[in-house]
Amino acid sequence: MILDIIKLKLSFIYKIVNIVTTFLKTNKRIKKTKLTFMFVKKFANNWVKFKFRKRLDLEPVFAMYLITKKCNFRCTYCYAESNKRISAVSPKDLNTTDTFKLIEIIRKDVSHIYFTGGEPLLRKDIIPVLKYCRDLDYDVLALTTNGSLLPKYEKIIDYLDFLTISIDSFDEKKNDQISGVKSGTTKKIKEIIKEYAELQKHHKFTLLLNTVITPINIQDTYAIMDFCFERNIGLSVIGQMSDFKPIDFLRTSPEYMKLVSDIIEYNKKGYPVLGMPSYNKSLLTFERHRCFPTLIPTIYPNGDLLYPCEVLNKRRYNLLEIGSISDANMMGLAEVGYKIDCPGQCYLPCYISASCFMEKPFSAIKQGIRLKMGNCYNKRSEAS
Ligand code: SF4
Ligand code: SF4
Repeated sequence: MILDIIKLKLSFIYKIVNIVTTFLKTNKRIKKTKLTFMFVKKFANNWVKFKFRKRLDLEPVFAMYLITKKCNFRCTYCYAESNKRISAVSPKDLNTTDTFKLIEIIRKDVSHIYFTGGEPLLRKDIIPVLKYCRDLDYDVLALTTNGSLLPKYEKIIDYLDFLTISIDSFDEKKNDQISGVKSGTTKKIKEIIKEYAELQKHHKFTLLLNTVITPINIQDTYAIMDFCFERNIGLSVIGQMSDFKPIDFLRTSPEYMKLVSDIIEYNKKGYPVLGMPSYNKSLLTFERHRCFPTLIPTIYPNGDLLYPCEVLNKRRYNLLEIGSISDANMMGLAEVGYKIDCPGQCYLPCYISASCFMEKPFSAIKQGIRLKMGNCYNKRSEAS
């Protein structure tokens, strides 16, 4: 009799725990859907504001946070810490407490944050920082790395939505040279990429490879494409730039233009090439575009927001002092104005994506939803 009562009570407790867990799970999903909806709404508001009212005080949609400018690679084309001109003015990294404060401030305006650098995994506190972002209900967390330190920080995939690993060629000797690293580094990175491609199957993150096309790796990009398409890895490509402008060689190279048209074709067929075809066309053929840099604030390691963008860098506002991205943007608008005299001179992927959204909002929303659902990376069988 007593045993029956205990069993009954236990089954009652079990049912209650189940109901609460289901509620919490559903609640989490509701929260996620709400955040996605707010993100799309923000883009739509910006579009209406600009299109119909010609207003330029647009709301930021995601933040690029260069969490450190330090890097353990020395890529030939890099402008970060390895470039002496930039490193001379590179700000210091924040400590963990101030980094937490900074990401709280960023969260007031955006729910998407993209960690880049330098090499973000040189920050020993990267896991607590990402974890804190999750505690703050960031909706989308993305991080780009050269991959070399991933074995030390495998746990990052528990927090990330998108993990991007940079590699420019599978020719190990060549890639070691491009990256300015000791022989054997690319060999290890290739193994790491394979491992993370597998991990994708059991974790929620999406893996992307990022390739910078330079005069010496044009043909190698085909092997990277094949590799990505085989394993449902997203591919993001960009042409080499010098001082933020595309190098002349690419503008005039038939070999490069052929590669670009092939990439766009794959993109149209639904292979896992990041972005929509018009985005890749603007990005890779260096089409003139109208840029909306304040939609994607660039934040330096010390918390400085560069207004209107990293390239023009007309003003710097430290977010730890100013308190919000919107306030910093409003100060920039008041002090510099939006007439920034830029005919779309640089081809940085995030600015091009914002530009595409403002020009082709419906295609961009469609692409964004596919990307978020991860199913633009499962098209190989349909496409072939
Ligand atoms: S890995 Fe990135 S930050 Fe480091 S040197 Fe290369 S391009 Fe620059
Ligand atoms: S095109 Fe480049 S330089 Fe011009 S506003 Fe946009 S990000 Fe800045």
